[in-house]
Amino acid sequence: MHRHTWAEVRLDRIAHNIKQIRQRIGPRVQFMAAVKADAYGHGDVQVAEVALKSGVDAFAVALLSEAIHLRQNGIRAPILVLTPIVPQDIDIAVANDLALTVSDATWLQEMRRYKTSKDRVRVHVKCDTGLGRLGLRERAELGALAPLLRADDIAVEGLYTHFASANQPDTTYYNEQYQRFLAMQESFKAEGFPDVTVHCANSAAALRDPDNTFDMVRIGAALYGIDPVPGEVSRVSLQPALSLHTRVTHVKRLKKGCFVGYDMSYRTVGDEWIATVPIGYADGWSHCFQGFHTLVGGREAPIVGKICMDQQMICLPAYYPPGTKVTLLGAQGKRRILLSDLGQHVGGAPQEVSTMITDRVPRVYLYDGEVVGVYEERSRMAARDPVVVG
Ligand SMILES: *Cc1c(COP(=O)(O)O)cnc(C)c1O
Repeated sequence: MHRHTWAEVRLDRIAHNIKQIRQRIGPRVQFMAAVKADAYGHGDVQVAEVALKSGVDAFAVALLSEAIHLRQNGIRAPILVLTPIVPQDIDIAVANDLALTVSDATWLQEMRRYKTSKDRVRVHVKCDTGLGRLGLRERAELGALAPLLRADDIAVEGLYTHFASANQPDTTYYNEQYQRFLAMQESFKAEGFPDVTVHCANSAAALRDPDNTFDMVRIGAALYGIDPVPGEVSRVSLQPALSLHTRVTHVKRLKKGCFVGYDMSYRTVGDEWIATVPIGYADGWSHCFQGFHTLVGGREAPIVGKICMDQQMICLPAYYPPGTKVTLLGAQGKRRILLSDLGQHVGGAPQEVSTMITDRVPRVYLYDGEVVGVYEERSRMAARDPVVVG
């Protein structure tokens, strides 16, 4: 590797998490793994391959490009695209054998104008039962959509919704959404679509309420070891798969009252060991993490001063030489930093932190402690490949 900074993805932990989740949801429910946004920053193809070996049935992505990336890398399993694709791209989607989300009649009519392929479009119909994002809210909207769905070249394969608050302690709104989804499902049957794959549960809903998941679950967070219901005694033991490390490149002893960082953003409060580490906001370690800490020698080392583009400074608990490993995410000794700790610090979701880590950070893949793959600057590598679709 050509950098002192790297992310580690423990694929055996993803396999472990899948087994745990499978035990909780039972053998009959289909397991769809959400691998959008490069598998929440863990690497889409690497995660998809280990997921298939661990018994996952299908994948969910957000974008057409994400689905094509999986197909180009040999993933043949069913893929559902969760957001409406650009209607002009319909033939590409069909040629790649993707299932698409339909959330209104307008998209379907638009798509018609561009479809030249004779093959059928596989669709899952999305209901908005209360998230206020995508989907049909009213029965009347379904009434308008249904005739379009009956076209010969459309295969209606699924009906789904997404919860707004499945991870919250108060389940009132979750139950309301669930009831609305039941009603939508009845209407859907009445319109003449009885045999579709019905799904609603994300990680939180699937793990908390495994008896009400219908035919399939869509699991993201839990797959990566992010506990979707923090604080609740989870019935599964999830293991975080991702960690992020760097090494001290420079150490200095600064006297009390010295400034550190742009805009003189930190001033030493005593004589301090200040170390420079080569990871900054261009790696996804945003200014938001100022005031949080790293781990060095199993102890906390606070991030001091403003985080720079390529580097940041930390205050060491004692002298450590250049080359010392610094952990920004993950465990050292008895201490660990979880994505949820970092998310809490920035006021965002844990997966917001993992998806922030940029392609500039090399990824090291491990299985049972053995290195099984190393990737550097992945986006630049991929750009050299011809983009062949269809
Ligand atoms: C991302 C996503 C999921 C997965 O959610 P997690 O909470 O990460 O398990 C499920 N369904 C939809 C529609 C999504 O966008």
